[in-house]
Amino acid sequence: MDVIGVVGAGQMGAGIAQIAAQAGIQVLLSDVSLEVAQKGKAGIVKMLDKAVERGKLEADKRDRAADLLVPVADLEPMRAADIIIEAATEREPIKRQIFENIGKVLAPNAILATNTSSISITRLAQAAPDPQRFIGMHFFNPVPLMPLLELIKGLATGEAAVTAAEEFGRRTGKTTILATDSPGFVVNRILLPLLNEAAFAAGERLASIPDIDAGMKLGCGHPMGPLTLADMVGLDTIVEVLKVFQADFGDPKYRPAPILTKMVEAGWLGRKTGKGFYDYSGEAPVPSF
Ligand code: NAD
Repeated sequence: MDVIGVVGAGQMGAGIAQIAAQAGIQVLLSDVSLEVAQKGKAGIVKMLDKAVERGKLEADKRDRAADLLVPVADLEPMRAADIIIEAATEREPIKRQIFENIGKVLAPNAILATNTSSISITRLAQAAPDPQRFIGMHFFNPVPLMPLLELIKGLATGEAAVTAAEEFGRRTGKTTILATDSPGFVVNRILLPLLNEAAFAAGERLASIPDIDAGMKLGCGHPMGPLTLADMVGLDTIVEVLKVFQADFGDPKYRPAPILTKMVEAGWLGRKTGKGFYDYSGEAPVPSF
C-alpha cells in the first residue's frame, strides 16, 4: 500500500491522513476546495510540530510525514490510490455524491471505505462504484491517539476489502475489530446504552453526578466517568443516536433518559456549549445539578 486518498479534511479526515503519513504512506487529501484541503494539512503539520516540541517525534520524521501529505483540488489524482477513505460530513446525500465522483477515478483493484459513524454500510454501498470493494472503517477521535479501528462489513463487502482495511490498520498501528453492519456497529451499540443508563441514574438522583462518575471509574476501571464522557460526546448526539437505535431495533430499551432530552431542550449539550452534566465555565468543572 503506497498511496491512499482521504476525502474530507476535517477532524477525522485530518487524523486519518496524519497516521497514514506517519506510517510512510502517501496521502492525497481533498475537501470541498484546495484551500480547505491545504488548511487541513496545515492543521496536521501543527500537530506534528507540537509532537516534535514535546520530544515525542523526531524532526526528520515530521518532515517526511509532511512531505507525504498532498492536498489536492479534486479527486482526479486518486486514480493512483490503493484505498480511498471518505471522512466527509455525516450527511447521506453528501456521501452519495462523493461516491459517484469516486466511481470515475477508483482503480480496478482499489478499495473505497467510509468513516461514517451511523449510516448503514449496506445502504451506502448501493451508491458505491462496487459494493464488494466497499467497507466501513470506523476510526475513533482523536485518531492519532485512539488505538481502535472498527471494520464493518456490509452485506456485499468482499474479503479483499477486509484484507486491505486490516492491512491499513496494521501499517498505522491500530488494532482492528470486525463487525457486521447494524446500527452503532459494536462499540457505539454498547457505549450508548451505558451513557444513557448513567443519565437515567443521574436523573433519578441515584447518586450525585461526581459519585456516578467515580463509581464507574473506581469500581469498573473506566478511565473516565460516563457523565464526563457524555459531555464530551455531546448530549444532542447521544439523543439522536438513541432515537435511531429505538426506531431501527424497535426496542424501547433504547429510549433516551428524560433528563437527556430536557438538557438538550435547555441547550446544555455538554462541553461544546460550556454546560452539560458539568458546568465548564470556571477553572474546574462543577456538577450542573
Ligand atoms: P468535520 O466537520 O470535522 O469534517 C468534515 C469535513 O468534510 C469538512 O472539512 C467538510 O468541509 C468536508 N466536506 C463536506 N462536504 C464535502 C464534499 N462534498 N467533499 C469533500 N469534503 C467535504 O467532521 P468529522 O468529525 O471529521 O466527521 C467526518 C466523518 O467521520 C463523519 O462521517 C462522522 O460521522 C465520522 N466520525 C466522526 C467521529 C467524531 O468523533 N467526530 C468519530 C468517528 C467517525
